[in-house]
Amino acid sequence: MENDEAVVIHSVDFSETSLIVTLFTKRFGKIEAIAKGGRRLKSPFESALDILTRINVTFIQKKNDALDILTESQLIRRFHVTQNNLHGLYAAYYIAELVNLFTERNLPNSRLYNLTSEKLCAFEKSDSINYHIAQFEFQLLYENGTKPVLSYCAECGTKIEITNPNQLIPFRQAAGGVICNKCVEKNRKFQQHYTLIKNETLKILKHFETEINNKINNKQCTNLQLSNKSINETLNLLNNCINYQLGSQPRTQKYLKHFNYTEHTLEAADTMAAKQASENKPAKVTEN
Ligand SMILES: [Zn+2]
Repeated sequence: MENDEAVVIHSVDFSETSLIVTLFTKRFGKIEAIAKGGRRLKSPFESALDILTRINVTFIQKKNDALDILTESQLIRRFHVTQNNLHGLYAAYYIAELVNLFTERNLPNSRLYNLTSEKLCAFEKSDSINYHIAQFEFQLLYENGTKPVLSYCAECGTKIEITNPNQLIPFRQAAGGVICNKCVEKNRKFQQHYTLIKNETLKILKHFETEINNKINNKQCTNLQLSNKSINETLNLLNNCINYQLGSQPRTQKYLKHFNYTEHTLEAADTMAAKQASENKPAKVTEN
């Protein structure tokens, strides 16, 4: 019999009285368990098996692919948002789905667990939600070992120098991060797709990276002044990174699109390149 703290990240009815729940536990990672009688009002689960709820849980671990058996649960904290904070509610559903998609069963990750419960609390307040989602996504990619490469060319390893604050930086999803101009040329030749990101976006991503490193080394992090626009652009880029890693878009991500997203911030590189080219185009020489 095991005991742990957990967040309910998924729940489906199994029978008239039972539920199958997916829990993200602090010490055991993700578990999938059957809660017999979990749908009854009077059960050993204190009606605490609703999605997004934080609970203390007792369960019997089964080997291989068999479902674990939940024997008891107590409520620690119910997720609660006010009626007008739909953004916070969808954000919470979204990170629950992400945790479920990105984690393997029985693989502990207490850092991700702490971040998940921290973010659920943050989403209850209605401010800076997109910032919190972006920060969560970045750390999820970090934990997954697929965090975007930010300071060096993801293809050849050359250091990327930012000389102009308005500079646009090429970013290639398939390479796993920013790329240098030389590699851009190479990609153009082979018609490989890349996007151009703003320096501001790169700064926020680097800030997330520093935050993680500082947390690991117990160092304080300085705050960054951010505009909503640049947060949304960063979120858009990170959504793309997440979708690329998964090979599909998480179901709940599209509900978040309504909240201040700028759909077209990441213009396709060819469009941008074409625009830049036409701006720098030399005078046309016409043949007689
Ligand atoms: Zn390169």
